[in-house]
Amino acid sequence: MRRLRTQVVIVGAGPSGLLLSHLLSLRGVDSIVVERRSREYVEQRVRAGLLEQGTVDLLRQAGLADRLDREGLVHEGFELRFDGSQHRLPFAELTGWTTCMYGQQEVVKDLIKARAAAGGQLYFGIEDVAPLDVETDAPRVRCTVQGEPMEIIGDFVAGCDGFHGVCRHSVPTGALTTYEHAYPFAWLGILASAAPSTEELIYAVHEGGFALHSMRSPTISRLYLQVGPAEPLADWPDDRIWAELRTRFALHGQEVLNEGPILSRSVTAMRSFVVEPMQYRRLFLAGDAAHIVPPSAAKGLNLAVADVRHLAAAFTAWYADGSRELLDGYSRACLAAVWQGQEFSAFMTSLLHRFPAEDDYAVKLRQARLRDLVTSRAAATAFAEHYVGLARARLAGAIGERQSSPRTRAGTAGGSTHQA
Ligand SMILES: Cc1cc2nc3c(=O)[nH]c(=O)nc-3n(C[C@H](O)[C@H](O)[C@H](O)COP(=O)(O)OP(=O)(O)OC[C@H]3O[C@@H](n4cnc5c(N)ncnc54)[C@H](O)[C@@H]3O)c2cc1C
Repeated sequence: MRRLRTQVVIVGAGPSGLLLSHLLSLRGVDSIVVERRSREYVEQRVRAGLLEQGTVDLLRQAGLADRLDREGLVHEGFELRFDGSQHRLPFAELTGWTTCMYGQQEVVKDLIKARAAAGGQLYFGIEDVAPLDVETDAPRVRCTVQGEPMEIIGDFVAGCDGFHGVCRHSVPTGALTTYEHAYPFAWLGILASAAPSTEELIYAVHEGGFALHSMRSPTISRLYLQVGPAEPLADWPDDRIWAELRTRFALHGQEVLNEGPILSRSVTAMRSFVVEPMQYRRLFLAGDAAHIVPPSAAKGLNLAVADVRHLAAAFTAWYADGSRELLDGYSRACLAAVWQGQEFSAFMTSLLHRFPAEDDYAVKLRQARLRDLVTSRAAATAFAEHYVGLARARLAGAIGERQSSPRTRAGTAGGSTHQA
């Protein structure tokens, strides 16, 4: 058996695990990352695309934003369509904060490149990772690398292995409390070789179900349709997808949508999940391993980055002077933000989607909420603060630093919301 020694063993090379490894290396803390999938697979996996400004700022401070700054699409508002009319929510004008469209797989590519350039130890394609002895001072991960059994011994194990990972399940029964909720619908997502139909995201609320128009670049669109919870992809040939998208985005019966070849498609279950605490002895959970949200509010990746920011600081403090304070407070600090993100994601999900069993009364209430959002500046501002991540920064006590550097592009903040 080959034995390796490191300070932090990181399970999972998604955004959480890679970013943690990168931040630790900047602060002189050693880590080894083990990932179940191949490098090619994780670099191509299409998922998130909306980065909050706080996430972008962290990536920039960590020297990871060269390509993001060149290729990312900075947004200052989004469009809301309902009742056949369009409304703009100018979140940058309301909060001073922007968002950035940049694919999660691009963030992952940038992170892997940075780790490789720094000589970081990343093992891909490791299918039998088993965390062991996490209750002791010498937790280990056992696995097989190129046919050879290997044991990686660390001071800590960081479980960054997503919702379907193994780390959470290595905690003894009863030590963690689980909170979860499943929605009675899913999202069918496509990546299409088509220029985005507008510059900003479009959230369309339609009697046939919700649809989202997003983008990844000036030539690639990302579109989502609310579908039934267990609909097979085979039931959705290209023609049906485009016809349904045209219907849900139609304005006054007009079809306004650029179309093109579909490059990839997938169905994502809509669910919420949190475990408490996010730590068991020497095992720390981060990102989707500890919590997931329905993608409606685009919080998953941003919450994962927020966890990693705390965890990197906590490990750094421990290695700097043996301080346990941040490690002991890790779960509490993260969970406040996690539950805020859960609440906003649930709110946005119920605001935008048609629920199968809802009656006309519920539909009318939703329409009233939507009208409130586009006519009341106070309601729009409260919503925007959550949407851009400002509410989370405020929770973390970081508001003073943020407010001093609003980044609204001159001339584009368009006053109150408008109706077309
Ligand atoms: C369709 C969709 C759209 C989304 N849109 C957004 C958005 O716009 N904005 C946003 O913020 N979030 C969004 N999200 C959520 C976001 O993608 C996740 O929150 C994010 O991927 C979490 O990163 P992570 O590193 O914690 O977990 P993951 O990305 O799941 O990474 C975990 C890694 O661990 C690996 N792993 C799993 N098991 C093992 C094992 N046994 N051994 C070793 N490795 C293992 C996995 O292969 C994976 O590489 C979206 C998600 C989906 C599905």
